[in-house]
Amino acid sequence: MCNNHPTRVLSAPHAKAAFERTTIERRALRPHDILIDIKYSGICHSDIHSAFDEWGGGIFPMVPGHEIAGVVEAVGEKVTKFAVGDRVGVGCFVDSCGECEYCLNGDEQYCTKGVVQTYNNLDYEGNPTYGGYSQKIVVTERFVVRIPDQLELDAASPLLCAGITTYSPLKHWNAGPGKKVAIVGMGGLGHLAVQFAHALGAEVTVLSRSMNKKDEALEFGADHYFATGNPDTFTELAGRFDLILNTVSANLDVDAYLSLLRIDGTLVNVGAPANPDSYSVFSLITGRRSIAGSLVGGIPQTQEMLDFAAEHGIAPKIEVIPANQVDEAYERVLQSDVRYRFVIDISTL
Ligand code: NAP
Ligand code: ZN
Repeated sequence: MCNNHPTRVLSAPHAKAAFERTTIERRALRPHDILIDIKYSGICHSDIHSAFDEWGGGIFPMVPGHEIAGVVEAVGEKVTKFAVGDRVGVGCFVDSCGECEYCLNGDEQYCTKGVVQTYNNLDYEGNPTYGGYSQKIVVTERFVVRIPDQLELDAASPLLCAGITTYSPLKHWNAGPGKKVAIVGMGGLGHLAVQFAHALGAEVTVLSRSMNKKDEALEFGADHYFATGNPDTFTELAGRFDLILNTVSANLDVDAYLSLLRIDGTLVNVGAPANPDSYSVFSLITGRRSIAGSLVGGIPQTQEMLDFAAEHGIAPKIEVIPANQVDEAYERVLQSDVRYRFVIDISTL
């Protein structure tokens, strides 16, 4: 078990470049490491922001992918949580200090030492991390979660980022019975947010640009659906919501969305556009409203989310693609031409 593991990957040599098949080495297993044979890897819009270097600081060559579903191929000598053959997932993070108050509280994403992201980051030894567009990955067992038997591996993969990123703020801001919740943008994150908010018991409204996704939104459990391209929507829904979850990858008219909140309502951003948003403080102070943000979710809550999804029959609607169609899939995500998540079949890599 002391040899490195050569692994075929899809790699972007520089920002906005087409993907190339190359080979990297995954590290030899340390005592707490798990070698995962990756079966499926979801395509998150964050992969595109990163591979196009829209957020800056991109590390190239880059192997994106933080929605990883696979099977345990080997375990380090001290691993107790998992055994060879287990169905497992890895999300956006692969290490954290494990000692700060946030790590101890299961909020590893806010680790004070700096959480190590699954790709486009440096690990604590200073080596670049490479993500899930890859045949194998080695991850310390603390950052590996169990995929319940009821979930198919391909459909489970988007839950590892899109699922937890929406479940976590819905839980934190108490989406549930008696709460009116709006989901802005029905893409990869948004279509899971609708399912989770509905299963948690909230009254769910989808705010999408056009009426095109209405039928599917209602199937996912939405109670109401409005097109934000129609200005009447903002008049009709003024002061309506306790919570608005913004999953949009581009800048929005923030004041217009704040006007839809009740007194004490909160607009939570999970969408991460490259350019800053702006808003008027009067939109906040006239209604004691809040603007907030939320980053993915911690490891215990990721396991809770997977178990919740299995129990409530929640799954993303996916389009499985071969590895040679990733560039095309990126273009289609940018055109919002995806219903609702692309997942790469890693056996084609
Ligand atoms: P996605 O599948 O592309 O969905 C984004 C949705 O936003 C689209 O389906 C569309 O919904 C809407 N939209 C796109 N362009 C728009 C525009 N110009 N104006 C208004 N609406 C627009 O992306 P995703 O994978 O769900 O990711 C969404 C965002 O969340 C990205 O910025 C991503 O980086 C971020 N993210 C953040 C976290 C976190 O931890 N906070 C984690 C994962 C992802 P409609 O067609 O319904 O209008
Ligand atoms: Zn993501």
